Amino acid sequence: MTDHPVYAKIDGPIVMIGFGSIGKGTWPLIERHFDYDPAQFVVIEPNPANHDFLRENGLRFVETPLTPETYRDVLGGLLEPGRGFCVNLSVDTSSLDLMKFCREIGVPYIDTVVEPWAGYYFGTEDNAARTNYALRQAVRDEKAANPGGTTAVSCCGANPGMVSWFVKEALLTLARDTGREVVPPQDRDGWARLMQSLGVKGVHIAERDTQARRKPRPRNVFVNTWSVEGFIAEGFQPAELGWGTHETWFPENGHRQETGCKSAIWLERPGAITRVHTWCPTPGPQFGFLVTHNEAVSISDYYTVGEGDHPEFRPTCHYAYHPCDDAVLSLHEMFGAGRQQEVHEILEVDEIVEGIDELGVLLFGHEKNALWYGSRLSNDETKLLAPYQNATGLQVTSAVLAGMVWALENPNAGIVETDEMDHARCLEVQRPYLGPVEAHYTDWTPLQDRWEHFPEDIDESDPWLFRNVLAS
Ligand code: NAD
Repeated sequence: MTDHPVYAKIDGPIVMIGFGSIGKGTWPLIERHFDYDPAQFVVIEPNPANHDFLRENGLRFVETPLTPETYRDVLGGLLEPGRGFCVNLSVDTSSLDLMKFCREIGVPYIDTVVEPWAGYYFGTEDNAARTNYALRQAVRDEKAANPGGTTAVSCCGANPGMVSWFVKEALLTLARDTGREVVPPQDRDGWARLMQSLGVKGVHIAERDTQARRKPRPRNVFVNTWSVEGFIAEGFQPAELGWGTHETWFPENGHRQETGCKSAIWLERPGAITRVHTWCPTPGPQFGFLVTHNEAVSISDYYTVGEGDHPEFRPTCHYAYHPCDDAVLSLHEMFGAGRQQEVHEILEVDEIVEGIDELGVLLFGHEKNALWYGSRLSNDETKLLAPYQNATGLQVTSAVLAGMVWALENPNAGIVETDEMDHARCLEVQRPYLGPVEAHYTDWTPLQDRWEHFPEDIDESDPWLFRNVLAS
């Protein structure tokens, strides 16, 4: 890729919080696609392991970690009211507090997850409070209490993020392929009614990461293709899913929500050891982990038709994640031992010898059974597209780029989630970085490929019930 469009001019400081795998990969995209003064780019990076790279590339940085006590002073000292941009790509910082502060001083803001302050994931006893539902609802409550104002884009990575744009593209594809007139809806209600009218019962965020390096995973090392800390934290949260109106059964260990939009339920079990049957183009049928994610809650909320505790239509929605094989082994070891590995490794772009990150949405239950729509980006192609990241990283960082472009073009949109953004514009910006973006229909259902010697608790009256998707 040689032709890099410059999408906007950013006057004032660009403050990037965190320079881990995602920060490091986002920086070159910002450099390519925005007109700004490099002297005004500053990184908050407490981890000394990343300082050499920052120095070698002449990037300004401060080492002070953000905490509930320091964030206003540190950020206030770096940002300038009414200009610049705050790009939050860190762990252990409260997205809600940071976005509120940025909006207070009129600085556009973006993050890729609703992150809490350090200690929250493991220090909170109440499992209901540890759900993504609770974290997201706090951001939605802030949006409702303070509508409009400076744009703050919440959860704009690959997933949560890009996959919400894929859901819309997939709906339009399905409408076209089933002979309907294709007019992209103009508002939330229109999109929800389109999904309902197409007969979609639910959505898996179906991912298969096949990236691998030559060296076998050493024992007692957690290996992943993105933040190990981030993955362990979300893997230990309770499994969680948007709960659709077609469901006829309720899991024994399931809990409903008492307040807020009530679009999701959670299970009394960590997501990273809760397996579901799902499907991706490369493996076909596979197990995924029901790791909680913001998009499971937001998509089921966004596509709800009707109000209250018994809406007319709502899709089931959840993540079904098969991380890279080394991460599967790492999880197995960690949950078996009952403690985290002390050594963490993120597979680097140059050590990966094969594999792709296949990340898409599987829309199921409709007249064509199931449609997977997504990006099948290989690590080899990633090397040609952008530096300092693997395929998993580029799917995230290019979504951050698209979200920043959209925010600059819509500076007073208030707090938004990716479901609420112009998906066509965002994908236009992001698509050059996604490798093959493809639609695949399949006749697979969760009732197939079962082990007939061991009868399971399934309900054959509707293959797409969560009861059948959940692996025993
Ligand atoms: P990483 O672990 O590689 O990096 C995290 C960074 O946060 C590090 O630079 C670390 O020093 C910094 N940090 C830690 N505590 C901090 C503090 N108190 N103040 C400021 N900085 C602090 O993680 P990553 O892979 O780069 O992921 C970054 C974030 O992006 C995580 O929250 C992760 O969950 C999220 N993410 C989202 C998606 C998505 O698709 N939405 C995908 C991958 C990662």
